[in-house]
Amino acid sequence: MRTELIIGIFVLAQSMMAQPQRPATYFKQHIEVLAHDSLEGRLAGSPGERKAMRYITKQWEEMGYKVLTQKVPIIKNRRPSNKSYVKIGKKDVKWHLVRWSGEGKAQGTIKWLSCNEETDKTLNLEGRIPVMQECDFDPHHGPTFFERLSTLKRKGAQAIIIHPTAISERDTNTAYTFQWYSIPIITIPTIDSTYDGKSIKLNIDIEIDSTYGFNVYVIDSCETNCSGKTVVISAHYDHLGNGIIGSRGKKGEVHNGADDNASGVAMLLELSRKLMEIKHNKHNYLFVAFTAEEMGLVGSKHFVEDPPYDLATTLANVNLDMVGRLDTLLQFLGAGSSSKWDKILSVLEKKHQKVAKFKWGGGGMGPSDHASFYKKRIPVVHVFTGLHEDYHKPSDDADKINYRGMEITYIILTDLLAALDTISEMDYIEVKEEQMTVRFKVTLGIMPDYTFSGKGLKIDGVVKGKPAEKAGLQAGDIIVKLGDYEIDNIYSYMEALSHFKKGDKTTIIVIRNGKEITKTVEF
Ligand SMILES: [Zn+2]
Ligand SMILES: [Zn+2]
Repeated sequence: MRTELIIGIFVLAQSMMAQPQRPATYFKQHIEVLAHDSLEGRLAGSPGERKAMRYITKQWEEMGYKVLTQKVPIIKNRRPSNKSYVKIGKKDVKWHLVRWSGEGKAQGTIKWLSCNEETDKTLNLEGRIPVMQECDFDPHHGPTFFERLSTLKRKGAQAIIIHPTAISERDTNTAYTFQWYSIPIITIPTIDSTYDGKSIKLNIDIEIDSTYGFNVYVIDSCETNCSGKTVVISAHYDHLGNGIIGSRGKKGEVHNGADDNASGVAMLLELSRKLMEIKHNKHNYLFVAFTAEEMGLVGSKHFVEDPPYDLATTLANVNLDMVGRLDTLLQFLGAGSSSKWDKILSVLEKKHQKVAKFKWGGGGMGPSDHASFYKKRIPVVHVFTGLHEDYHKPSDDADKINYRGMEITYIILTDLLAALDTISEMDYIEVKEEQMTVRFKVTLGIMPDYTFSGKGLKIDGVVKGKPAEKAGLQAGDIIVKLGDYEIDNIYSYMEALSHFKKGDKTTIIVIRNGKEITKTVEF
């Protein structure tokens, strides 16, 4: 009895020693390093991002990979040079560059453009520089802000002045802009209807501060019976720094980005480790950690435009972005990009139904690096465990990662890669893109306080003349109920809002100075 027990323990100890570390142990290690405060939010081009790059490189080298890099130019800021000016009559006026402004000279008369005139089909702006105002266009059918700018340009505007109420302060922050119009777009704080007809002359000349980041990648090449195809597995390793770009939380605080996207990088590393062990794959596997995704897919765009391998051999891109918060639902976005995904994923769903629910479909234009591949007519899938409260906030920390969930995702993804290895061709489907963002028929006219973490939606400001102001709501109020809908956070607020249409009247309950107040709101 005793001997048996001792032998039993011995065997157990031996098998424990022989067993490699569990993936969850690695996931925890990678994420705790990558999402550590000392990396300062891994802003592309920053020293913190370089630290992350060195960590990834070291991991791959230890696995036995040859690590390759690709330098990616990054525009830090676009600011007006001292050649720039705006003169009304003969006088220089105070002005600000709007982040989507192009460069150029323009001269003409100011056209104070009413919202009605703006939609007038006969509008001709030759020789005139319009002032685009804040307009209450129908959010469902009306033109978007960018469509409005494009229309004015098409109608002959050589430059556009945006009325300060029509843009937010953020729109004059010119850091990390990657897309802009071909004409100057500015705002003038003092502009009003009395400027109509006055002559204006301007020159917008832009200086660029630039830096660079690195795409880091390794290739596990096929050795025998090769298909000649390449599967690209990707994850971006940059994040928001201290919130200078894209933050939904407090600027100035470090945004650690544990789920977005230390989790994806950790998964990338472990999948590459797994492949190193298998060594009998038919395809080549290229694992790439992208820089500057948060700035507008800058790293991946550069990678597909100047590919360091033969892009035409790409079978598919599997993009890992936010894979650390598996509840039960594992999503494969963009899986409408090839009919093969359906086949692969239905088999996997059945096999893993006890541990996860699957959801897949849609086009590949989603907001992550797979979109760069999809635009090159490559089938893509974006693996995603879902959006949450801490998304793009300083609170996206390592202690909120579900490591067991990551292990489940890892097992499913190793099966996915195994399934891909048996396929030699994948069709590409161009999916008609629907509006990805939720559009509302109504607006309350509030600015939410994204830093508020209690129950409900805290109001940061109310817009003049909109339903919230008319109902008597104030900054500081916390909305807890709208009609029959309980409001827990911004998501339930948006969900509630989608149930109303223009003209609807309902009650709204807010907490003000600790007391519940009921008001009536009319949309
Ligand atoms: Zn991301
Ligand atoms: Zn992000």
